[in-house]
Amino acid sequence: MNTEYRYKLDNSSKKFICPECNKKRFVRFIDAEKDEYLPEEFGRCDRENKCGYHLDPYKSGYSKMIWEQEQGFETKVEVKKPIFRAKPQQQKEITFIPINELKNTLRDYEKNIFIQNLLHKIAFPFKAKEIERIIELYRLGTYAKNGAVCFPFIDLNQNVRAVQEKIFDATNHTDKTKKYHTSWLHSRLKYSQYKNKPLPNWLQAYLNNDTKVSCLFGEHLLTKYPQNPVALVEAPKTAIYGTLYFGFPEQATNFIWLSTFNLSSFSFEKCKVLKGRDVYLFPDASENGTAFKDWSSRATEIESKLSGTNFIVSDLLEKYATDVDKKQGNDLADYLIKQDWRKYRPQPEPEEIEIPTSEKSENNEAKNKPFFSENEVEVLGSNKNKKNNDDKIRNRIRECRNRIRQYEIQVCELTNEIKALEKKFKQNAECCKVEWFRPKWYGKQYQNKLNEIQYWTS
Ligand SMILES: [Zn+2]
Repeated sequence: MNTEYRYKLDNSSKKFICPECNKKRFVRFIDAEKDEYLPEEFGRCDRENKCGYHLDPYKSGYSKMIWEQEQGFETKVEVKKPIFRAKPQQQKEITFIPINELKNTLRDYEKNIFIQNLLHKIAFPFKAKEIERIIELYRLGTYAKNGAVCFPFIDLNQNVRAVQEKIFDATNHTDKTKKYHTSWLHSRLKYSQYKNKPLPNWLQAYLNNDTKVSCLFGEHLLTKYPQNPVALVEAPKTAIYGTLYFGFPEQATNFIWLSTFNLSSFSFEKCKVLKGRDVYLFPDASENGTAFKDWSSRATEIESKLSGTNFIVSDLLEKYATDVDKKQGNDLADYLIKQDWRKYRPQPEPEEIEIPTSEKSENNEAKNKPFFSENEVEVLGSNKNKKNNDDKIRNRIRECRNRIRQYEIQVCELTNEIKALEKKFKQNAECCKVEWFRPKWYGKQYQNKLNEIQYWTS
């Protein structure tokens, strides 16, 4: 039996003009029996991601028609000639929001309802310094006309992917009496600022993005704090509250609080950036625990695809939320805001050991920075006859000294981490209804240590 297909793609290197994109990248089908090309519309464009034209003689009914004709049937099969356009596999290039548009929002905080509530209206207001820090950390902004707070979604590479604008009421819940309580910067520009006017090129392109919210809120902090565990919640507001209550990520044991934007946008695509981290998930309360179940099953799936990443889904709200809370879909923020944040951060953050570089630089900077100055290199290289040899030695010295510096930084960072952990343990021991106060996220790795403390203190 002949298992060869009669019609196949030409495997020579000859390319034709693609009927779809007009580029000379088109591979035509050959009739192996007759050793000739099929009509020119049958073939595949090899710009798979950008064009994707593909017309197959089998799927289109062409082969059947030919066969029937050859059997002498009076065929009435009409050859459908649909264009089989492979779905582009790679996403289109994403257009970002220009940084200037973000900068335009970084002002008018006195008109920002959300921020003003945190400073003056909530039961346990925060200090101005803390609010300044949170604004700077997450680049929170204001749309002054309606008092909305702007939550920018900035990706790992500092690109602005979307800016959510939300109007809150006096209790920092979405103000549903306002018509546009939840909007987006791009929509506002389109329907208000550029209404009946030509849109700027970037906005035109941006509106064609397949997904607008294509990264996590707070994602830009991951590069700055490479060691911290991550807490993932649904809404940006909850991420802000989480940071304010549990502490800022400058301390390596503190969470980086990130938000997915909503329940359904917790996806593998967005979670790729979390590879290698410990990630604690706090889904909102929901009727019958649907949110908890949904995130748990997604977490298992995502975890299996992201090696070295641990997802721990917190059942805190599942356990303690009342039926009313669940019906309202309350989240962590709703519980936190009723309590005094001082309870969560009773002691000042531990003083840090000075890192032994003059500029306390980021790791990368230290790695790249040569240890000798240009002048020093000049002096060292003055004997030109030995220049090559000297170069090698100098490079080697430079390399070694840079590595020493790296290790010194690591030692300091670890020492700081140990200090912070010890403080937390001591504090827990002092309370020493230890189990009561042990936060869920301490997990098994600290269990032994806690048992030990309990033993010695009880
Ligand atoms: Zn093409």
